[in-house]
Amino acid sequence: MQVNLAEAADLLKRGKVVAIPTETVYGLAADARNEDALREIYAIKQRPADNPLIVHIASSEQVLDWAETFSPLAQKLAKAFWPGPFTLVLPAKSAVSTIVRAGEPTVALRVPAHPIAQQLLQQTGLGLAAPSANKYTQLSPTTVQHVEDGLGQHIPVLDGGACQVGIESTIVSVVGEQWQLLRLGMILEAEIELIAGVATISEQKTLPKAPGQHLLHYSPKTPMQLFSSREALIQAATTETNCAALLIGDGKIDNGLTFNLPNNPAEMAEKLYDTLHQMDALTVTKLLIETPENSPEWSAIHDRLSRASYKVH
Ligand code: AMP
Ligand code: MG
Repeated sequence: MQVNLAEAADLLKRGKVVAIPTETVYGLAADARNEDALREIYAIKQRPADNPLIVHIASSEQVLDWAETFSPLAQKLAKAFWPGPFTLVLPAKSAVSTIVRAGEPTVALRVPAHPIAQQLLQQTGLGLAAPSANKYTQLSPTTVQHVEDGLGQHIPVLDGGACQVGIESTIVSVVGEQWQLLRLGMILEAEIELIAGVATISEQKTLPKAPGQHLLHYSPKTPMQLFSSREALIQAATTETNCAALLIGDGKIDNGLTFNLPNNPAEMAEKLYDTLHQMDALTVTKLLIETPENSPEWSAIHDRLSRASYKVH
């Protein structure tokens, strides 16, 4: 059910859940201080209660409404990457609902750049918890159509067009002057290092953990197989009776539909989930996916493709 900005703001202020556009993916938003509204997000998504939610705020001026401390390093990162596809995990104020932080001592905060998300945050004055507007482990939505297909017509949804970043935010945890990358995204580790220096918290002695970063995630319903070599993909296609392929750049397979994405990380990310949604809607038994080169600019796309194709053993 589509709603306009004023209706969305009103629903959110009354503790209802609304799907909203952000530049990364569509979020299933609710007042982050309203525990009934937060429970509703988990129920609609069928998301486990131990997987915390990102709180979206209008600007870094609101950080200290949620975080116990906003260290100089965290401030530098916020200044560099907000508004944008970047989430900071900081020590939480004790008043922050344990539901939104899934019992963690930390809170995840993001200032989104999407103009409609911004207007909504400013008009409501709320912090909005907004995980992706899809069922747990499924593909994230980047259009209103994806939200409606995944969650049904009864969820109020605010149209902001197709998301321009197209994959979920980069998440960085900061404790004092130490930092750690918790989730890859289109803001690259190297860009963070330019601001923050090389990460000083080793992976092994993770301070704040990255709950919810399961190996199976962002996943179409059709089985997916990844290929780093075009020849191997073409060869595999000849043995499949009913498949579709995703190729980077030009080209096609002979015995199934081919989808092509640009050989450029930002452009591929923007279209990736929409293409996977389209491929998943076909009645094929397998999706053959060509993976990009192994270089840092492609790291977030590799991460999402490997989670999307992860098989539970
Ligand atoms: P999303 O599913 O895009 O809403 O992102 C949520 C992810 O952010 C979770 O799965 C966690 O990995 C991370 N996250 C959110 N809140 C916290 C938190 N308080 N502490 C650590 N990680 C968090
Ligand atoms: Mg999600």
